[in-house]
Amino acid sequence: MNLNISKPQVLPEWLPVNLRTASFAEDMVSFTSNFPCGNGQTFNRMGECHYSFCARLGEQPHTYRFFLRIDGNQPGREMRLRVTDFHANDPACLDNENAVFISYDNENWFPLPEGAVRLATEEEINPLLPQGSYAVEYTVKPERFPCWLATPLPYTENRFASFLERMAREPAVCVQSICQSPLGLDTPYLVAGGDAKAGKTRVFVMGGQHPSETGGILAVEGMIDAILGSSALRSNVVLHAVPIVCMDGWLLGRSNENCGTLAGSNLNRAWAGVDIYQNWRSELQPEIVSVSQEIRNIHPDIVIDCHNGRGWKELRLQESQPDSEQVRLQRTRDALDASGQTCLLKSPRKLRGVSSFEIIEQGLAEAAFTFENIMLPGFSPQQMRKAGADLLTCYLEAASVKPGK
Ligand SMILES: [Zn+2]
Repeated sequence: MNLNISKPQVLPEWLPVNLRTASFAEDMVSFTSNFPCGNGQTFNRMGECHYSFCARLGEQPHTYRFFLRIDGNQPGREMRLRVTDFHANDPACLDNENAVFISYDNENWFPLPEGAVRLATEEEINPLLPQGSYAVEYTVKPERFPCWLATPLPYTENRFASFLERMAREPAVCVQSICQSPLGLDTPYLVAGGDAKAGKTRVFVMGGQHPSETGGILAVEGMIDAILGSSALRSNVVLHAVPIVCMDGWLLGRSNENCGTLAGSNLNRAWAGVDIYQNWRSELQPEIVSVSQEIRNIHPDIVIDCHNGRGWKELRLQESQPDSEQVRLQRTRDALDASGQTCLLKSPRKLRGVSSFEIIEQGLAEAAFTFENIMLPGFSPQQMRKAGADLLTCYLEAASVKPGK
C-alpha cells in the first residue's frame, strides 16, 4: 500500500515556516530547518560567527530537539550556535544535550568532540521564558558545507521511507496504517511473522510516542529485523509494530508532544482517558485511541513501549558497548526480572496515563513494559537496533518461547 507519511494537509499555526530560514551576509552563512523533521527557528546574529536560535514550537512543554542545515563558504571556521529555549521537567535530560551530531550528507552522523557543548549561564538565559528553560551553546567547525546539526540523532524522513520500502518488499511483513494523525498522516503499522495462529507468542511493540526519541524507533527496527532474520522465530512469534506512534510530532520537529493543540499531547500520558485528563478528547489523541484499540483486539502476550532513555540506570546497561554478543545478551537478561514482565531499565511506571501501566491496569495485555534505549555520543544506530533485537530475544527466552536455531 502507498502510505502518506510526509504531506500534512494543514500546517498548524505554530509552525513558523517563514522563520525557519535565515541568511547572514556578514559571515556568508545561512540556516534552514524548513524540511521534514527539521527544527530550529528565529536565527539571530549575536556577533562574528555567533548565532542564537529557538527550538520551541507552539506551546509545547518539552523542548530538547533541533535539526537544521547550515550553508557557508569557509570550511574549518569556528562557529558558535546557542539554542535559547530548551525546556525539560526532568533535569536528567541535560545529559542528553551532550549528544549532538553533525553530518555532511544528512545520512551519516558524527558526535561533536568533547568540550563542544556547554550549558549557558543564568545570565545568558532569556528571563521571559517559562521556568525550567535553559540554553545550550555548541561550538562547531564544519569541515565542509552543507552540513546538518542535530540533537538527538535524527530519525530522518528518508530513513523511515527507505525502511518502509524495504519492509513492503518483505513477504513475511504486512504494512498497513493503524490510524491517521491529527494532521492526516498515515501511521505505519507492520505485522511480521504471518498469521497469529494458536500457540504463537503475540508481541506488540511501539516507538516514537515521544517523537524525537530515535533510540526507541531504532529498537523497533531491530526487533522487526530479528524476526525477519530467523525462520524459527517467525514460526513461533507474531510481531505487531508501530515504529512511530506520534507521526505529526516526528515530521514537524516537536520534541515530545503531538500536534493536536498548540501545546500538543504527551501521548505516553494519554492512555487513561477522560478520567485523568480533563482535556482528553478522542480527536486530540487519535493515535492512542487506535493503538490501544488494536492492542485490545490482539490481546498480546507482551507490549514493549520503546523510548530514548536519559537516565543513569539505562546508561549502566550499555556503557561498555560495543560488547561481545554474549555479554550484551547476558546484561539484557539480567535486566529482565524473573517473570520476564518488567525490565529493570524502567519498570512499568506507577503513573496513571502511562501506556505500560494502563495496559496492565486495563487488562489489554498479559505483560507490558517501557524500554529506554539510550543514545549517547559514540553509539551508532546499529547498536540501538541491536539493543532492540537483544531485548526481544531475551524476553522470548524469559517467556520460554523456544525458537531453536
Ligand atoms: Zn520517551
